[in-house]
Amino acid sequence: MSNEPSKLASAPAKDDAELPRIAYPKNLVGQPALVTGANSGIGKATAIGLAKAGADVVINYVTHPEAAEDVAQEITAFGGRAITIQADVSKEDDVLSMFAKAIAHFGTLHIVVSNAGLQRDSPFEQMTLEQWNTVIGINLTGQFLCTREAAREFKKRGVDDKVSVAAGKIICMSSVHQEIPWAGHANYAASKGGVMLLMKSIAQELAPYKIRVNSVGPGAIRTPINTAAWSTPEAYAELMTLVPYKRIGEPDDIARAIAWLASDAADYVTGATLFVDGGMTLYPGFATGG
Ligand code: NAD
Repeated sequence: MSNEPSKLASAPAKDDAELPRIAYPKNLVGQPALVTGANSGIGKATAIGLAKAGADVVINYVTHPEAAEDVAQEITAFGGRAITIQADVSKEDDVLSMFAKAIAHFGTLHIVVSNAGLQRDSPFEQMTLEQWNTVIGINLTGQFLCTREAAREFKKRGVDDKVSVAAGKIICMSSVHQEIPWAGHANYAASKGGVMLLMKSIAQELAPYKIRVNSVGPGAIRTPINTAAWSTPEAYAELMTLVPYKRIGEPDDIARAIAWLASDAADYVTGATLFVDGGMTLYPGFATGG
């Protein structure tokens, strides 16, 4: 049988060749989008994906400006418009200045993807306050700061029905770990659990202003944040025990979900977390036991 599960599980893909090639619908034209942490991994794929859907894109980065410039060049090469802005999302002054520059450049923003995040893993009893504060500061406070600035701009402008039926769209980057506890990563899981109720609370508060707020919850995606989980055949096979769909996710899997959430095709969707995880949240251990 060609698709016998254990064979697929032991075959790490070398690139994203397994991904279905689906073109982005060009339904975000005239809607400037800001993506945080957009010079790597999921944020980079999202910036490129939103640009393919027609959005002008702000590529936020904190380090490695050359990687941000590469993303901008990739976008301009296919006719899109992009600028790069440095800001540490955990710092209020940086975030205020980033939004001011973005709005001055593109006139407004319609889409904000609060993606920047990191891990500082440690057994719980050895976790330092610095490890805790770094992760909460970027993954949760960073999302507070960026989503607050988005809400201010969207509310001030209101609906521009020439480009969208909503006044603005916020997409928070969460994780399957807003639901699945994660030993050795208590700070990270707490940050994503926090993102879940931040997202839902502001979705409730902002819905009357036609501002939609949703999260994407990726499973295991092939990016630098989790290289150890997929870069050797052994690690990949172990990872596949957690993924019923039997392939790792690629950054573009997440980008396409974000582009849909940001579009009017998702107009009645707010306060939702869209898990894009190959079934990781389906309790795969129960497929053979329980
Ligand atoms: P990545 O390391 O490739 O990208 C993270 C990005 O965030 C980088 O561009 C980094 O520079 C940026 N960043 C970090 N600190 C920042 C700060 N203070 N200010 C601005 N930018 C900052 O990893 P990724 O996998 O692409 O992660 C993106 C998001 O996806 C994160 O929020 C992560 O928690 C989430 N996520 C990833 C996975 C996965 O399997 N890769 C799964 C679930 C959730």
